[in-house]
Amino acid sequence: MKLEYVPTTCPYCGTGCGFNLVVKDGRAAGIEPWQRAPVNEGKLCQKGRYAHEFIHNKDRLVKPLVRKNGKLVEASWEEALTLVAGKFRTFRPEELACLSSAKASNEDNYLMQKFARAVLKTPNIDHCARLCHSSTVAGLAAAFGSGAMTNSIADLEEAKCIFIIGSNTFEQHPLIGRRVVLARKKGAKIIYADPRFTPTAKQADLYLPLRPGTDVALLNGLMQLIIKTGREASGFIAARTRDFEALKETVLQERYAPENVAAITGVPEEALRTAAEWIALSKPSALLYSMGITQHTVGVDNVKSTANLMLLTGNLGVPGGGVNPLRGQNNVQGACDMGCLPDVYPGYRKVADPGIRKGMEEAWSVPDLPEKPGLSVTELMEQLAEGASQVRCMYVLGENPLLSEPDLNRAKKALENLDFLVVQDIFLSETAELADVVLPAACYAEEDGTQTSTERRVQRLRKALEAPGEARADWQIICELAKLLGYGEQFSYLNEAAIFEEIAAVTPQYGGISYERLEHPEGLHWPCPEKTHPGTPILHREKFTTPDGLGVFSAVEWKAPAEVPDSEYPLLLTTGRSIWHWHTGTMTRRSESLVSEIDSGWVELHPEDARSAGIVNGEQVKVLSRRGEVCLRAKVTEGIKKGVVFIPFHFRECAANLLTNSAFDPVSKIPEYKCCAVRIEKTRQTGNEKEPHGKGVGRNV
Ligand code: SF4
Repeated sequence: MKLEYVPTTCPYCGTGCGFNLVVKDGRAAGIEPWQRAPVNEGKLCQKGRYAHEFIHNKDRLVKPLVRKNGKLVEASWEEALTLVAGKFRTFRPEELACLSSAKASNEDNYLMQKFARAVLKTPNIDHCARLCHSSTVAGLAAAFGSGAMTNSIADLEEAKCIFIIGSNTFEQHPLIGRRVVLARKKGAKIIYADPRFTPTAKQADLYLPLRPGTDVALLNGLMQLIIKTGREASGFIAARTRDFEALKETVLQERYAPENVAAITGVPEEALRTAAEWIALSKPSALLYSMGITQHTVGVDNVKSTANLMLLTGNLGVPGGGVNPLRGQNNVQGACDMGCLPDVYPGYRKVADPGIRKGMEEAWSVPDLPEKPGLSVTELMEQLAEGASQVRCMYVLGENPLLSEPDLNRAKKALENLDFLVVQDIFLSETAELADVVLPAACYAEEDGTQTSTERRVQRLRKALEAPGEARADWQIICELAKLLGYGEQFSYLNEAAIFEEIAAVTPQYGGISYERLEHPEGLHWPCPEKTHPGTPILHREKFTTPDGLGVFSAVEWKAPAEVPDSEYPLLLTTGRSIWHWHTGTMTRRSESLVSEIDSGWVELHPEDARSAGIVNGEQVKVLSRRGEVCLRAKVTEGIKKGVVFIPFHFRECAANLLTNSAFDPVSKIPEYKCCAVRIEKTRQTGNEKEPHGKGVGRNV
């Protein structure tokens, strides 16, 4: 029995850990450490450790499915693809929309946006970065000219202070959490701001118990303290930034004085002073954030505010510093880089720019690319739900909006208003169940490719197995459809490497990257514009990528969330992940080892809120918002702020997104997942109440 060890990259979070997939008799038999993997050095979190378990699950899609008489039934590829291509032909470009996936490879994402624009001629291409980090792309691009993590993960060890805000790093990006621990061992101070006392809080030297939706107030308050004590980096500000006076005028207002910020945020005044001192005096300081910052109606303002703080303290362009957004899924960074956004081609070049459009028409040998940006998925869902959208047909690759969209009742109504829905996935997701045609796809272990981690590191995915049944690689399915629609020549690729060659040719940041160079385990950090370029782990060393090369301060005022508690819905709901599960659970809930730790959702609430509602730990309760309700078990804990409740968003039977608010940021269109008003009620007792959730959470929360 020969064992084969195939080095590849983890399909879960954006950390980009490498591991060896162990193959025995053509089946995935386990995961083994890959010591040379640069990010994780052979270590893995629970999800990575068991990333082989879902691959051979009996629920894998193995044949195309076509809806007949209201039921999805098996069909041949020829029948399914002919039907899809025929249907696509019947819609005008503005009636079509495509959703790509941050779980898919760069090659698959690149082809999906090319297919939307070049074949369907629709500008409507988006993906789930809209829902997690679109405010990062907009906010950091405004401040620095580039919407990506400024420093590398390993670089965190150089920090003397790490400020983590809106990121439960130790549960969501555990192998980045490891670098935080290593930095702390070397003497770095760790500051953590969050409404929950998470495992990340346990590693912190200073915990700031922040009320959800008050991030700008906190950041402005810290900046006021830094400026008033004369601790701003004057030399850096003078040489490398602009618009400081406007920022200063804003943050020095009375409303951001420590006592007022303490009242808004719930963070004690003394803790604010300590945090401001540590961030300003520790050289260098790094800032980490994630969806606790981005998923707000003021997501872009929040992101700009984090950039302001690091510009103010001169922590950009230096090892151990930076503004570091931690991307959620394995390839959110790559899917954005590949142009799966309605306003940009690969490399963030504007679709509305006639010169750039002409260049893409030449590169792709196609005429008439769409002239204007398309709809974001949040705008699209809003219009569809209201019955006011031009879009009548959607092609969804590897996304599950029926669990990931806010206000799920509305999302279901939106998708039901479509005339034709095609879903391409590895399992029959909640969204696929609603589709007219389902196309079975290969998973991460069944095709070659690349993905780009949160630190802009491009790494290889390697094919280790054959896809089950008749499932095919996403790129092959897209190429087949393109051929049927008359674009065979433009979608003729020998393999994934050939697609990557085209990516490198049209994406300036990837210009010097090739499969050959990626054979080195280190991968390459973009920008890597030429074949001899070593890659760029740290951005903005000499100048920013803004037109004038300067970092831009933004004067940002704090605004309350779109929905705040009132007498009818007196609690604030915030959502997030568990260390054992991932996103909508399509993969982790089919992993025996992970499910044995946690099998369903729960709601965390403070003992005083539980007492007020007459609720005890482990009791089944109902949580209601203006949009829906869910039943789940209560976890009563001191580890959450009074007035705030938390629900993980992985579980379809108690989907947090039935409750969340679809109000979105006006610039990035990201929904406000992190704040909405709810109330909790008792439900009828069954006598079978048990501990709130699996044993694993008990160990980790
Ligand atoms: Fe995979 Fe992220 Fe865990 Fe690393 S930290 S093993 S990338 S889930």
